[in-house]
Formats: sequence, structure tokens, C-alpha cells
Amino acid sequence: MITIKQEAGSEDTAVVAPVKPMSDPITGPIESFDDSGDLILVVGKTKVNFSVCSRSFARPSTPWKARLHGPSAEPKVGEGVHPWVIRLPEDNPEALRIILQATHSRLSDVPKFLTREILFHLTVFYDKYGTVELLKPFWSGWIAKLPKPTLEPTDFVQQVWISHKLGDLKSYKEILLEFLYSAQKRPGYNGRLFLEGHPDVDLYQDPYLQQLGLPESWEIRRMRMMLHIENILRMSLNNLSNPKNTMCRSRSMNPDWRLTCDCAMLGGVHRALYDKSWYSSGMPNWEKQVTISVRQLVTKMEGIRTAAIGESRMRRNQGGAHKTCTPWEPFELADVLRMCPMQNLGPLVEAVFEKQAEKSGLDVPVLYSTVNPFGTGKGRFPL
Ligand SMILES: [Zn+2]
Repeated sequence: MITIKQEAGSEDTAVVAPVKPMSDPITGPIESFDDSGDLILVVGKTKVNFSVCSRSFARPSTPWKARLHGPSAEPKVGEGVHPWVIRLPEDNPEALRIILQATHSRLSDVPKFLTREILFHLTVFYDKYGTVELLKPFWSGWIAKLPKPTLEPTDFVQQVWISHKLGDLKSYKEILLEFLYSAQKRPGYNGRLFLEGHPDVDLYQDPYLQQLGLPESWEIRRMRMMLHIENILRMSLNNLSNPKNTMCRSRSMNPDWRLTCDCAMLGGVHRALYDKSWYSSGMPNWEKQVTISVRQLVTKMEGIRTAAIGESRMRRNQGGAHKTCTPWEPFELADVLRMCPMQNLGPLVEAVFEKQAEKSGLDVPVLYSTVNPFGTGKGRFPL
């Protein structure tokens, strides 16, 4: 208990009153990184205590140098009586432990493998305090051992952040591609944007994606892919509806058969649209209704196409004469990307990644580990 004399007097008469104890005293064990540590860091919501050398800790970080030893450094509260304590409730203790291992010359203690979550917290720390150079020898090794990201929103966001902050362009493009294929949106102008299977997590509200200038820009790319697919349908309907066009590919000399084939395909497309609730007043009406992903849309389009062909073939099957007739050429997911390469970031963005990679030492191509320490699960995306 800390006491002070309340007023001068003889020892017999002195009144000693307790002083209000330091708020939120340090509890639990203290992990020491330096025998003569002069600073205690209390880290995270779980309040893990680290005793550190303040100069070693601050050395790689300009913000920390200023905070601990700069002209306007915060006072060493209770110096000589109490330890100097700084609380970092928002930081992750496991990530900070790695920073401390590196700053206190314990490089052999630095782990060779990190989970995506810890790597994420390390990059958050680096982003806040500018410590990327400190861990330069380690970043590429850690990334190389990461499993492929999943569509679980936390995993997804952490991977986007890590790739962006470390300049890992390859994995950034891969996860952008997965977003373009798998994201969905609720109806309405400000509809929730989410990943397949996770409708309750709105990517628009994610603070890390927002900080990176996402996901609005990614959503614009995704919508362009949707628009491209929509245009395939619209052009096909226009062509089939135009009396001057002939889409039928049979070699029948009788124009009636070819006209019948075109009309059957046209009717087939409309009937399929109706069946999918995408039909209104004679035209597809899906702008406000299509909330599925590009991946699901491609599947649905193929369903409409085959239904339209079925209408034609079933009614006018002339010994296979119409077997190549189709309202539009069939396409797959990869075809959409080839026709509409929205995963291309452009030279300016790529230059930003290059700069980040230079800082983090990621100057070599990185491949994901083929071993997945977390097992397999739904949503792993193909390379
Ligand atoms: Zn035909």
C-alpha cells in the first residue's frame, strides 16, 4: 500500500492515509525480454505483460521513438517508484511478442510458421508503427507457408490486408478473383455486399477493407462482369427478335424451318427467363433482382441457354440439323474473365505493390503451401 503523510507532525501523531492505488494495476506474470527492462507493456484485451528495454523496442519504429524518447515523450509515470507502464489494449500480444523477439535480438525464437491471423496482426502493427523493415527476413517465409485462404469473411479480409500491406501481388489478384466470382449483393442501392454462404457479414462495413479503399472499387469491377453477362443475353434476344437476322445454323433450304428454329429459341429464352422470375414486359428484368454471384449467374445462364435449345430441338428435330443452333455461345466462368479481365489492376496499382514488396522483401514469387495445416473445407478456391 502506498501512503503519504497527510500533515506535518510527530511520528506519534502523524496521520497516514492511503492514496488511491494506481488505476488498473498490473496483474499476472510479466514476461521479460531484458534483465534491465525499464518499460512494461500491457498488451491486448487479455492484458499480457512484457518487460522490455524501451530503447530496443523503439529503435525500428519512428512513432515509438518519438513516443518513448522524443522531445515530447510521455512521462515515465512514477519513475523510481513504479515501473514505467504503457498499455496497448488494441494490439495483439502474440504479434507483439514476435516484434519483441526481433527487437531484443532473440531471432532464433521467432517462429517459422504463423497462422494467417497472427500474420494479419503483425501487418496491422507494422502499418501502425512502421516496423516492416524489422521483419524483412521473415515475411516471405511466413507467406509461403500459409494455407490458401477460404471464403470465411475473417480469413478473406485478413488475406486481402496481408497481401496489400506486404505487396504480395499474386495472392492479392487471386483473392480479388475469388471476390469477383463469389460476392453477392442484397437488392437496393446500398445493399449489403457479402461472400457466398455468409450473408450476415457486410463487406462494406469492414474497417480494414475500407481503409484499403475497398470494397467499393472491387464491387465496380464485379458489376462490370455482371453487365458483360447481361449484355450477352440482351444481344441474343435482340438478334433473335430481329426479323432480318437468322441465328439458326441448319443448312435447310426451307427458310421456314430456320425461322421456326429462331422463334423456338427466342420463345425458349423468354420462357426460361419467366421460369427464373427474370421476365417482365417482354424483356429480362434482372437489374434489381439479380443478387447472385457471378459464379451462380454463369450457371443460371447456361440453364437458360439449354432450356432454349430444348424448346427448339424438341419441336423441330430434323435429324440433328439444328444441333449447333444456340441463342449464344456457351461460356464458363473462366471465359467471363477472359472476355472481361477485371482482375487486371493496371500499372499504377501494380507499382504500389512493387514498392510494398521492396519494403517487405517479397521480391520473389510466392507459392502457397500445398500442405494445409487447418485441414480442408468448403470455399477453398482453385488457382
Ligand atoms: Zn436451327
